Amino acid sequence: MSDRERIDVLGVKFDNLSMDEAVERALSLLSERRAAYVVTPNPEIVLACREDPEAAEAVAGADLTVPDGIGIIYGARLLKTPLKERVPGIDFTARLLETLDKRGGSLFLLGSKPGVAERAWEQLHARFPGLRLAGVHDGYFQDDGPVLEQVNAAAPDLMMVCLGAPKQEKWMRANAPRLRVGLMMGNGGALDVLAGDATRAPEGWQKAGLEWLYRLLKEPTRLGRMMKLPLFLVQVLRARSK
Ligand code: UDP
Repeated sequence: MSDRERIDVLGVKFDNLSMDEAVERALSLLSERRAAYVVTPNPEIVLACREDPEAAEAVAGADLTVPDGIGIIYGARLLKTPLKERVPGIDFTARLLETLDKRGGSLFLLGSKPGVAERAWEQLHARFPGLRLAGVHDGYFQDDGPVLEQVNAAAPDLMMVCLGAPKQEKWMRANAPRLRVGLMMGNGGALDVLAGDATRAPEGWQKAGLEWLYRLLKEPTRLGRMMKLPLFLVQVLRARSK
């Protein structure tokens, strides 16, 4: 699409859209039914793309790229090319599911450990009773073939691809041409959260942009990953002074 206004944050180009605009764009992609895919990079992924060309290509190939983390919003602001607003992947997905719920649309859940997607579906079904389940598959498969067959037989409107980043982005990039799906969305650990295996921060923390701190306090082993945020900001400052 040539009409995309995009903002470059250390090599990853983000669509500069509000949440409402991003939802509208996603629904329009879904209606084209060409297995377009959405990515929601956070600072960790932006850094990974600088070191992994295949990840960078998979992210660049997305039809919609929204800023998931507050770190990206700060980065874009520091670069003096601010983005309109943060579009958290899980909230964004919930907005799409709301629309599909009203339309009686269908959803395929791919990823996480065996059994997690089924439990996530129980939660989703309770919240979106009009939504239909097109199928589930865990994220620990060796061969794409049977997964593609299962998905294509169901031809879902939306597929949540939850293999963790950048694996899910690479998977969507590689398989999009072979998939009969309305739209795909890289959702990381969303199924774990929905199934109740991981928790989101209370709303106050989210609003304050402190979800990362909450998760760190809950899961101190995330510290290694979170140290990517300061590293990301250092790289932004370096890029700015060039
Ligand atoms: N995962 C998977 N297959 C794999 C590796 C990971 O399905 O080969 C799942 C894993 O079970 C977890 C998710 O991918 O549900 C990654 O969660 P994480 O919170 O690390 O993802 P992020 O949102 O940070 O990318």
